[in-house]
Amino acid sequence: TATSGKHNFNSGPSILPKEVFEEAAQGVLNFNGSGLSILEIGHRTKLFGAVIEEAIATLKELMQLDSEHEVLFLHGGASTQFFQVPMNLLDGNAVAAYTDTGIWGSKAIKEAKLFGSVDVVCSSKAENYTYLPKNFVLDKAKHAYVHITSNETVYGTQWHDLSPFYNSGVPVVADMSSDILSRQLDFNRFDLIYAGAQKNIGAAGVNVVVVNKRCLGKVTRALPSMMDYRAHIEASSLLNTPPVFAIYVCMLTLRWLKNFGGIAAAEKLNNQKAELMYQTVDALPIFKGTVAKEDRSTMNACFVATNEELEKEFLALCEKEGMVGVKGYRTVGGFRVSMYNALPLESVKAMTDLMKHFAQTKG
Ligand code: PLP
Repeated sequence: TATSGKHNFNSGPSILPKEVFEEAAQGVLNFNGSGLSILEIGHRTKLFGAVIEEAIATLKELMQLDSEHEVLFLHGGASTQFFQVPMNLLDGNAVAAYTDTGIWGSKAIKEAKLFGSVDVVCSSKAENYTYLPKNFVLDKAKHAYVHITSNETVYGTQWHDLSPFYNSGVPVVADMSSDILSRQLDFNRFDLIYAGAQKNIGAAGVNVVVVNKRCLGKVTRALPSMMDYRAHIEASSLLNTPPVFAIYVCMLTLRWLKNFGGIAAAEKLNNQKAELMYQTVDALPIFKGTVAKEDRSTMNACFVATNEELEKEFLALCEKEGMVGVKGYRTVGGFRVSMYNALPLESVKAMTDLMKHFAQTKG
């Protein structure tokens, strides 16, 4: 794929478009003909100003954001958002609703409890997070917001129907780290969206936060400037030295996505890849999908083989054939095939051909 001829199914940092790797490499050597590397230009120069402006404008355009929604590029990974969100949105005596649908949601819950009360409105923990619980109750008189993980990267679940959240009247906050820009959604219906960039947006080292500015300024606690979304909005994401290179890679990836046909085109391809992947898993008795069919993620397909010996053999075969990043998360095991926007259909074809071949040889 990218540069090596390997098929990269890593869950993140993950594959980016080939053009992005090439252009970013050129930018390191000589950025836009300036005679300087992107690594040595000042963040307050016109050169970088053009980069961050294009990144923000392209993201706004791709997500069709209205004028109330601001785009921020912040440091700290999505894990920082686990606490920055409640710090900014949850007062000490208020209650937020959280959905416990996997590792990332449960980490977000742990952090939110530092700032206010958390009502875990549903959990699939008892079933090892293999489905999305739908029997939750949201109360707009009680809940300051509801937090969801739109796509659970580790367990491979994805909320396909977001209407129960939208229609609850409770402001919705979403960790979209692993499916942002992969499918069309009405992004304006969210009060806050956050995502580590290293899967669908660009390089590790930066987060994207999309926030409706109307929901800010309501908590009573004092906020350190670096933790205050309003300060970043005012400074247009240049409150301090931002991760210049990571933002540059985001801008290149967003530009690529726009030229590719935007989110609609990405969604079409993502559906094709996921369909092929899951059809293959379901057709081969040697493999078994781990997630309830209606909750399967288009981004991260999780499955196991019928026994551990076969799992080891298949992983060894993947390695031999240049299929990278197929092993399931360290606490889950099995296989996880991640299929982010930049993964070509050919890579999924190569993977499913290998699975069929393996199944045949094992009778
Ligand atoms: N949320 C989700 C859904 C993730 O998949 C990840 C990482 O993979 C994180 C949060 C944590 O992101 P970071 O490593 O950028 O803190």
